[in-house]
Amino acid sequence: MRIVLISTPIGFLGSGKGGGVELTLNSLVSGLISLGHSVDVVAPKKSKLHEINVKAKLHYVEGEDQISWQHQNYYSPVSIPDNSLLAGMLEKGLDIAKHADVLLNMSYDWLPIWMTINLDIPIAHIISMGSESLVIRNLISKVYAKYPKNFAFHSQMQAKDYPFIKEPTIIGNGFNLDNYIFQDSVQGPLAWVGRVAPEKGLEDAVYVANKLGEKLKVWGFIEDETYASKIEKSFPKGAIDWKGFLPTDKLQEELGKCRGLLNTPKWNEAYGNVIVEALACGVPVVAYKRGGPSEIIQHGHTGYLSKPDDKETLLYYANIIQKINRKNCREWVEKNASADIFANKVVNWLNKVIIEYK
Ligand code: UDP
Repeated sequence: MRIVLISTPIGFLGSGKGGGVELTLNSLVSGLISLGHSVDVVAPKKSKLHEINVKAKLHYVEGEDQISWQHQNYYSPVSIPDNSLLAGMLEKGLDIAKHADVLLNMSYDWLPIWMTINLDIPIAHIISMGSESLVIRNLISKVYAKYPKNFAFHSQMQAKDYPFIKEPTIIGNGFNLDNYIFQDSVQGPLAWVGRVAPEKGLEDAVYVANKLGEKLKVWGFIEDETYASKIEKSFPKGAIDWKGFLPTDKLQEELGKCRGLLNTPKWNEAYGNVIVEALACGVPVVAYKRGGPSEIIQHGHTGYLSKPDDKETLLYYANIIQKINRKNCREWVEKNASADIFANKVVNWLNKVIIEYK
């Protein structure tokens, strides 16, 4: 199959601005290539693919980023800037797709989804977020009525945000497990990993670490500086050990030294890449039972799930995290979330989409 992949219109690949989509895209590309498919990636200028993806063709586009939907009002209209990166990526993608089997869109935005009803080329959409915009939700509903196969979701809980989708296609996610080394660090610190933005609830994780008299190690791109400094000010000085945004190889090395990961989403987390990355290093996870994390973590086996927003229960579980056998964590990822497993699910789905157009 020849697949043309459209990247996120928020930040170049490797910047961290695109959140989990950046890693998901890289894992998918390597999984597809290892299954023998050919992949063209259309992405913002300065984007870099992981070294393993040398066989993929990268096409650069310059332009203005979209505004992330999770940071707009739910009822906001669509806005497309002059010299739009998204429009530019779609133009380039459409041109290359003349010689391809399918266009695979990974941007959560209105324009590519709207194009579905006006295109003869098969176009499939990996929906990377829960319902964060009314206008997009309603558009998905309209397009779904005509093209019911063209949407895939990372988790059942995420898909529930789109209740009109009957029997949603769930593709989960998967990663190159050679990039993650198992470490048996039962004595290490507690970690938190993610974009530093309100929907990620960092403050609840700092609360827990602080109650335990520990510094919380925090890795990730600081998307919202005001939010970050507000959290910092509301806890004693030095409660957070800011570690910055690291590439995967460095991140996993540091993360593997931790005894547990705290994951505290305040929104319907579509999947939660960082949870699986932690598990792949043997790090158990304590998370709120909300969105993807509630489907990934096996309570009592690979981590613990606390009632959403219940900091005291989170604290209770963080305190007993060493009870989890770290080998369970790695094992779960190997059986459920490798790049090949993920790519196979995507290929099965894309085949169904392509057949619709014949
Ligand atoms: N990440 C990273 N380096 C860091 C911290 C985070 O590469 O120092 C990546 C991580 O690998 C993950 C992404 O940031 O893929 C966050 O994705 P997640 O699905 O957890 O949340 P999202 O940002 O998509 O809401």
